[in-house]
Amino acid sequence: MDMPRARKKMVETQLISRGITDERVLSAMMKVPRHKFVEEAMAAQAYGDYPLPIGYGQTISQPYIVAEMTQALGLKGYERVLEIGTGSGYQTAILAELCGRVYSIERIKPLLLRARNIIDDLRYFNVALKAFDGTLGWSDEAPFDHIIITAGSPSIPPPLVKQLKDNGTMIIPVGSRDEQELLKITKSDNSFTKESLGLCRFVKLIGQNAWEE
Ligand code: SAH
Repeated sequence: MDMPRARKKMVETQLISRGITDERVLSAMMKVPRHKFVEEAMAAQAYGDYPLPIGYGQTISQPYIVAEMTQALGLKGYERVLEIGTGSGYQTAILAELCGRVYSIERIKPLLLRARNIIDDLRYFNVALKAFDGTLGWSDEAPFDHIIITAGSPSIPPPLVKQLKDNGTMIIPVGSRDEQELLKITKSDNSFTKESLGLCRFVKLIGQNAWEE
């Protein structure tokens, strides 16, 4: 299978056609080899218009969702971004292409180790990973320019708002177990405003400030 060709088709038919316009996001998605982030047996499906299982009941997000969430951050290249839910590490790699440094937290250690290997193989040196409950954030490295949560939460975890810089943005799916609204939060002073980016469906964010196991 011609992976670069499949990737180009993915960008054209799933991203550009649905209104992803940020050139930097489109080139990152054209470049990052998504098929390396799934098991070999599923490599041929890696550029399909859907999420795929990555083990432990978790999924790699649909390409369009990754592009939409990333575009919403409006990254320029210098930012420090916190990601909650490393999973396969695919979104992490996209962020690593587009910002200064990525801090990514995953609660399932074997997933984190697998992501670490792929990210190292692809030679992203601006990524820090940690096995932890991401609903508590990463206080030693705070504040962050942006925070992106790639699992669905019943509410916005307060430590994450606290660890966001003033004027910083947070992208988070908030709602029930079955369906969430993708929210873009902008922090100003000690409060924040919310904008809806539409409905979505993510696996559960599990932790002290989200769902119980
Ligand atoms: N961005 C990932 C999405 C993986 S699915 C990708 O595209 O591959 C969401 C991930 O969030 C899962 O791996 C899940 O284990 C993780 N997760 C859920 N709750 C978490 C928490 N409190 N802290 C860190 N990771 C969490």
